[in-house]
Amino acid sequence: MTEYEPVIGLEMHAELMTESKMFSKAKVVDSVEAAPNTAVSPLCIGMPGTLPVINQKAVEYALRVALALNCAINHHNIFARKNYFYPDLPKGYQISQYEQPLGVNGWLDIELESGETKRIGIRRVHMEEDTGKLTHQDDGTSLVDYNRAGVPLLEIVTEPDIRSGEEARAYAMKVRQILRYLGVNSGDMEKGVLRVEPNISIRPVGSTEFGTRTELKNLNSFRVLADGTAYEIARQTAVLQSGGTVIQETRGWHEGRRETFSQRTKEEAEDYRYFPEPDLPPLHLDDAWIEEVRASLPELPDAKVARYMTAYGLSEYDARVLAEERAVGEWFDTAVTHGGTPKSIANWMINELFRLMNEAKLSIDTIQVRPAALVELVGLVEKQTINHNTAKDVLAEMFTIGMAPAQIVESRGLAQISDDAAITAVIQQILNDNPEQLNRYLAGEEKLRGWFVGQVMRQTKGKANPALVNHLLDAALASQK
Ligand code: ADP
Ligand code: MG
Repeated sequence: MTEYEPVIGLEMHAELMTESKMFSKAKVVDSVEAAPNTAVSPLCIGMPGTLPVINQKAVEYALRVALALNCAINHHNIFARKNYFYPDLPKGYQISQYEQPLGVNGWLDIELESGETKRIGIRRVHMEEDTGKLTHQDDGTSLVDYNRAGVPLLEIVTEPDIRSGEEARAYAMKVRQILRYLGVNSGDMEKGVLRVEPNISIRPVGSTEFGTRTELKNLNSFRVLADGTAYEIARQTAVLQSGGTVIQETRGWHEGRRETFSQRTKEEAEDYRYFPEPDLPPLHLDDAWIEEVRASLPELPDAKVARYMTAYGLSEYDARVLAEERAVGEWFDTAVTHGGTPKSIANWMINELFRLMNEAKLSIDTIQVRPAALVELVGLVEKQTINHNTAKDVLAEMFTIGMAPAQIVESRGLAQISDDAAITAVIQQILNDNPEQLNRYLAGEEKLRGWFVGQVMRQTKGKANPALVNHLLDAALASQK
């Protein structure tokens, strides 16, 4: 039987978090929280006589993305009218970019589960405007909300370089991470501000031609992206293997049945009668501004990961965890500038701070613990003022009451007991009080040693220096033999 390989290209749509819309002064509002049709200008609903004006902030945000995705930038940008008739679009056309998009020929490296890195080509990054949102009701009528109409929208289109659902998902997640780093999109897929549409075809292994593709629409999570893509690959393979042909069409995902279904046969570009938007002049971007925007980009995830590994000796896993979100990475960087040992700070963040954050459902920029305070806490452990276990409790206190670690140690009397004489006295007392356990130990029941350690820690309320306890206990037990 013929072996097939999948060929996949992704289109992603990202709303840009500007104050106002792409071509008007109407506000960009949260599509879930704002009441319907409260952020709408005459332009958004296609009133005759209104004229679009390009939002410079939106162009800057789009440029940030195009640069971060390694695109070549077109200095001469043209907007076009994409004509179609549907109630989500009162003007009867969407202003988009067609022939001269903002960015072309970019790329993005993704990490696969196998540990390999794969480069995905990016065909184009272009600016356009979002459409309104329709809600179809059970009685057959539909409601329309134009708050979203005209919100700046970025379309990011890959080359057909993706070969599996897993790769599609890794790519889409990486784009989301970068959009969040750049501060241009929240990445809230459930709010619809970021949408992913895979184009999928299969071809006989070894063939260089492309097969007929289908496009999956309205996938609202990364899991559905991976599952829907895998389903579509299997479906097309079954069609071809049984002698059928794949039809070029748009398909949806049915979550209940966990399968794709046909929505409509695919429209061609000529159906949209693209032509240059006569109400907007060509947009010229000069090199000085492009370079200014490039220079203002934050350090991006891959660069951060590489720096954490080479400069701080972190493992790739730890480096990726800390670089996952820009704010977390910056918190870590701040801690290091306050003199924290990078590896200890990384361990404390990953093992303890993130656990507290998860439990409290807080993000790094809403917690009370400041980077300098964690550095101070780690310092107290390194100086042996407190032991590791006490430090965990102190961090939990810092987390809830926001007090400095030294103050907590002081006011709760938590300082570690590192005084030989004091610890020896406690050990002696415990050996005297527990002759039965001592005799059993001396008769060869070695595991009772751990029990004695536990007793000492209990007596000292966990404050005894553990290394010292072990050392002094061994000496005390040896002298009994
Ligand atoms: P449109 O969907 O508007 O016609 P394109 O033709 O540029 O736009 O393709 C959109 C996406 O589909 C791109 O990501 C591209 O890589 C991908 N693509 C094009 N042809 C195929 C194919 N035969 N199989 C899979 N993906 C494809
Ligand atoms: Mg398409």
